[in-house]
Amino acid sequence: MNIETVLLNQFDNRFPTEDSCIDYFRIVKEPLLPRCPQCDSLLYNWVKGKQAFECKKCRHRIPLTKDTVMEYSKQPLRSWFYTMHLMTSMKQVLSAKEVQYQLGMEQYSPVWMMMMKLRDIMGKREKIYQLTGEVELDEAFFPTRMDDSDKKESLKRGAGSQRQTKVLVIAESKPVDKVLGEYLLHPKAASDEKIRKLLANERKQSVKKVVHYIKMFVIENAKAPTIDKLVEKSVDARTTIVTDGSCSHVHFKDLVDKHEVYIEDDADKVVRNALPWVHIIIGECRSGIEAIHKEVDKCFLQLYLNEYCWKFNRRFFRDSNDPRFDLFDRLVRISAIYKSDIKWRDYSKLNDEKTEL
Ligand SMILES: [Zn+2]
Repeated sequence: MNIETVLLNQFDNRFPTEDSCIDYFRIVKEPLLPRCPQCDSLLYNWVKGKQAFECKKCRHRIPLTKDTVMEYSKQPLRSWFYTMHLMTSMKQVLSAKEVQYQLGMEQYSPVWMMMMKLRDIMGKREKIYQLTGEVELDEAFFPTRMDDSDKKESLKRGAGSQRQTKVLVIAESKPVDKVLGEYLLHPKAASDEKIRKLLANERKQSVKKVVHYIKMFVIENAKAPTIDKLVEKSVDARTTIVTDGSCSHVHFKDLVDKHEVYIEDDADKVVRNALPWVHIIIGECRSGIEAIHKEVDKCFLQLYLNEYCWKFNRRFFRDSNDPRFDLFDRLVRISAIYKSDIKWRDYSKLNDEKTEL
């Protein structure tokens, strides 16, 4: 049996019908319902035929998908759920073409739209957390397709050309020795298994640091004010930032607890000792995106980064047997909380032009 068949069977067992998806989403959504906008009551009945909650007092109705990522979508909830199931079952990024095939849908655009909206809300979810402790920070270039406005200019070569988009990468990471030291001080915090894994990983990757949470942002430029603004938003003030001493990192000591600059003549040594994780992440994320799209449009790159970070930050959930940590259920939950700002009319022209889409 191939992986697609296994995934489909898993999904079919849990959600055999559209009604089963509606029932599950209703359970997720119910505790999140706001006070009735008309009478302030918090008590609702479920009206099955209308797929809506109805205020017990004044009968005001709130549709099931109101204020969710599915609001205004014409797709059945089951298509949304299956798309979420596929996106959360695979470590790699999936193409909309692949998901369209799996869903057996004739049209490409609704599938593309669902996936982009889900990537959008993954980013919204990640925004509520700040990184803390010790973080590595660096900038990278990702290959992107030119915007129309860029096409008018002649193409510059190499870094800085319109085919490259700058990305800021920040990763919480700690030296392995420090983590082991903390475990020894608080033996309850880690099992022998956890420590064994940590040491095995260190030997395998020759990485002397342990990574925790990460963030990635598309940036217009790598100038100090641009980066300062993102650091202020996404990094806790008590943090130590480790960098290679780029000239755009001049204000970090004013923004956070400590700025450690690691400078060496040997660039590989800097990466190995001080910034291993930002570089592993850049490489892995870039090749993941390239595997499905040779180039992505610059305006969509952030959405792919959102998916990568959202999954990376929940990578231990995938191995957990605890249903509370199921990635699919996590995604369903945030889809009940967040709306996406992405609208088809803003992108339809762009998509019509793409033959490989
Ligand atoms: Zn009411």
